Amino acid sequence: MTVHFPFQNSYAALPANFFARVAPTPVAAPRLIKLNRPLAVQLGLDPDLLETPEGAEILAGKRLPEGADPIAMAYAGHQFGHFVPQLGDGRAILLGEIIDRDGVRRDIQLKGSGPTPFSRRGDGRAALGPVLREYIVSEAMFALDIPTTRSLAAVITGEHVIRETALPGAVLTRVAASHVRVGTFQFFAARGDTDGVRALADHVINRHYPDVAKADRPYHALLEGVVARQAELVARWLLVGFIHGVMNTDNTSISGETIDYGPCAFMDDYNPAQVYSSIDEMGRYAYGNQPRIALWNLTRLAECLLPLLSDDQEKAIEQAQFILGDFSEKFSAAYAAGLRRKVGLFTERDGDEALIESLLDAMAKNHADFTLTFRRLGDAALDASADENVRAQFMDPTAFDEWAKRWRDRLALEPQTPVERQSAMHAVNPAFIPRNHRVEAVIAAATNDDDYAPFEELLTVLAKPYDDQPQYAAYADPPLPDQRVLQTFCGT
Ligand code: AMP
Ligand code: MG
Repeated sequence: MTVHFPFQNSYAALPANFFARVAPTPVAAPRLIKLNRPLAVQLGLDPDLLETPEGAEILAGKRLPEGADPIAMAYAGHQFGHFVPQLGDGRAILLGEIIDRDGVRRDIQLKGSGPTPFSRRGDGRAALGPVLREYIVSEAMFALDIPTTRSLAAVITGEHVIRETALPGAVLTRVAASHVRVGTFQFFAARGDTDGVRALADHVINRHYPDVAKADRPYHALLEGVVARQAELVARWLLVGFIHGVMNTDNTSISGETIDYGPCAFMDDYNPAQVYSSIDEMGRYAYGNQPRIALWNLTRLAECLLPLLSDDQEKAIEQAQFILGDFSEKFSAAYAAGLRRKVGLFTERDGDEALIESLLDAMAKNHADFTLTFRRLGDAALDASADENVRAQFMDPTAFDEWAKRWRDRLALEPQTPVERQSAMHAVNPAFIPRNHRVEAVIAAATNDDDYAPFEELLTVLAKPYDDQPQYAAYADPPLPDQRVLQTFCGT
């Protein structure tokens, strides 16, 4: 029996300058570490066959499945504000596309599968640590109901990659609605290739924004669509304490999925200025800067689309600015609505925003754990005797008492029963996030001891982030002082 991938490739049919045809480089001794069986089924793949040695060879790039048309995609991008006209898939290869069980076209991409014409000085490989991190965090985001690329499999290659030290090499199979980025548009725009920009825009409309095709001005509507999805996405990140870490334009997906998990992190203590990434020295991509940066990235996209918006450049700029002007309102509305749900307010009243703002202020001043404060607030909404657990998050617990009084006065005006309120709050306030110290512990066990039990257990817990799972209660705990992770690394 051979593994059958029902490929239906569309990107590889675009003009030749969109990509380079390149096959994965075979590796010594592939071993499957993890297969995402439910996702395999969703993609119409046979999980049992993927778990055979042949399956592992395919997932490691040692063997090409029938129908694959492997390509490395070309893109450019602003990295930390500086434009690089050519980046591209330097360590990733798109095997092809599959229409999943819901009729959605999905890219199947190997990450860490060897050099491509876009590798520059890189080796085209990935170390085990970053592969496990992306697997864990992307699947956690999916379970949190946040748009994201997904992880189908992780294999180790049986080869070492040289970073600061020699590390086990690994390949991640990533599944995405597509891998088109803001930087993909920039690649063509930077070359003055308006036909390329148009062909890409048409591909994207067809694939991600089919309703836009019927609009009077499809390219305007495309920009509106991307703006709307990014606004919603970044609001969702903030609502769970997620920090992407490298919001370069090449790491901003046009489909509105979270993509390219590098030195990403969930924050423990609430702090709008929080940064974990070791390479983000200026805090450009700090937690609270993310909405501003998303708009900056969208502005770069709008610049690429100008020639499609109007032949008159001044008009095009005016129209683009008008569309970009929607971002702040869309983001603020999504963020404010999400915050209201987090504190159990399901109707809108004057003063709600100020009430929530003062909770966030008190949390920041008192180093309250972002996730636990909201989770335990749900219990306090049911029964004030649970207040102690919320108070315990605050350095000065009286800071909560004062706020709690105002909060309860406001809750009295809500229609729900306390039981309804608690369950509605628990449905939006996760108990479990991929805590940095847990992720680091998983990576250390796998890398140093070839032990994947902690990885499996963490995945199990994170698959149900909104359930209490009392048997895994310790996974909800913030790090002890000596467990704190101060920095994360992209490790590429
Ligand atoms: P990232 O930081 O993952 O968004 O990657 C930025 C750029 O560097 C992309 O063009 C990647 O393909 C490239 N890159 C990152 N790591 C490697 C590597 N090990 N080998 C080749 N290219 C890489
Ligand atoms: Mg990237």
